[in-house]
Amino acid sequence: MGNFPGISGLFFDEDLLIRQSSKGVYGISIPDCGLKDFELKKTSADYINKKFARKNDPGLPEVSEPTVVRHFIRLSSWNMCVDSTFYPLGSCTMKYNPKINELISSLGNIKGLHPLTPIHLVQPALKIIYDFNLILCELTGLDEFSFSPQAGAAGEFTGLKVIKKYFDIRGEKRHIILIPDSAHGTNPASSALTGFTPVEIKTGANGYIEAKDIERHLSKDVAAIMITNPNTLGIFESDIKKISEIIHKNGSLVYMDGANFNAFIGNVKVLDMDIDLIQLNLHKTFSTPHGGGGPGSGAVGVRGFLKDYLPIPYVSFNEGIYNISEDKKYTIGRIAPFLCNFGVLLKAYAYLLSLGKDNIASVSEIAILNANYVKKRLGKILDGADPFEDRLCMHECVFTDKAIEDHGISTIEFAKLLIDYGFHPPTVYFPKNIHGAIMIEPTETESIKTINEFLKAICKIRFKTKKSAALKSPRKTKVKRVNEVLANKYPVFKY
Ligand SMILES: *Cc1c(COP(=O)(O)O)cnc(C)c1O
Repeated sequence: MGNFPGISGLFFDEDLLIRQSSKGVYGISIPDCGLKDFELKKTSADYINKKFARKNDPGLPEVSEPTVVRHFIRLSSWNMCVDSTFYPLGSCTMKYNPKINELISSLGNIKGLHPLTPIHLVQPALKIIYDFNLILCELTGLDEFSFSPQAGAAGEFTGLKVIKKYFDIRGEKRHIILIPDSAHGTNPASSALTGFTPVEIKTGANGYIEAKDIERHLSKDVAAIMITNPNTLGIFESDIKKISEIIHKNGSLVYMDGANFNAFIGNVKVLDMDIDLIQLNLHKTFSTPHGGGGPGSGAVGVRGFLKDYLPIPYVSFNEGIYNISEDKKYTIGRIAPFLCNFGVLLKAYAYLLSLGKDNIASVSEIAILNANYVKKRLGKILDGADPFEDRLCMHECVFTDKAIEDHGISTIEFAKLLIDYGFHPPTVYFPKNIHGAIMIEPTETESIKTINEFLKAICKIRFKTKKSAALKSPRKTKVKRVNEVLANKYPVFKY
């Protein structure tokens, strides 16, 4: 009975779309275009250079509209998502995204905007981009944001390009970027991609970088430090001002990975930490949906002296008219086609306006409160597993595998067991400097009730689950345990 949808309970079977194909079935009806037969008989080869023309039929599925819709809706129900469950994936800020943002961004005349529409017809859209820049400047204390980068890592890349160009123009050859071991994995990758040499700095026993440890890494080769604050251990870099001072004295710049902005938005200004440039992940902090490669925005903000290096184009405002401008003296050029991922910006803008200026600080306050509630209570359940037991955390907390290991359960089994309780697992085995790490970011959108249910599930796993059951988890999902090593070494992309 295997392949009949709807008979096997909640998790339906689903065949590949290509196997649901029947010759001659259409998903859409195209009205008669009025062209005569002989005109239509031209094949693609008449329009495309022979060298590039397809020799054989591409073999696309021939299916009706209901078949396509049901196929994808069924597949989507196999996935855990923020709209269906608590998703405490550390470092990813998988908070619930209010639907008002979606509503605003899908309004008819906004949704259909073409990026090449003449500017006199899109003044309100340009005003939104312009105003959003002003809001981010106020929230951070920085002087200008570029919305060209379309992901956090693309923001890092852009920021590093700015740093490179800054030193090129000054005629300085600096090739090193200092990166703490508690940084996100994208930091060293973006540095290498920009042609820099990433050099690792070890986190101190307290979980943060100590200013005195920076000195011995300094030389005239250091272009910048790239620092994630709060870091991926969920700990605020308390030496940040001192670090900035030392770095600046060396003639180097301070780049901050601001993906964890939800830990201090509205309470601390980036400029007060003496940061030169930063990327903010609008798709995390500003509540626009992300994951699965969805649209993003890694807005890059800089201090005044770096404004002229930002990517083009950007929105300017002169004599009552909003314009799309390209006049930046030292610009690193284009990072993406057109201005920005406008839909993401709009959702972020709607999010901020619906919160209101007076409530923005509560975002970070509740994020921190929730994380510390989890930290304290889990610290008791997972006795001895909190490496930073005696201190508070910021927006996320991290545990070792000590308590569950004593009980015979590994971190990966712990993660898979949580799925059977209906929760998305936390981030696991990251950061690398925490043994069997379990990193939890509850975010500010979760209620105490949800968090308590999550803690109850962990209690059951910690005290009641047998090794034999752990090995078989998850049992309730459509796809059970996959062989991750095999999947990584020999991925199969064909059907
Ligand atoms: C998510 C994240 C990134 C990368 O952002 P993407 O949008 O996934 O490219 C970088 N740094 C930190 C600290 C992050 O949490």
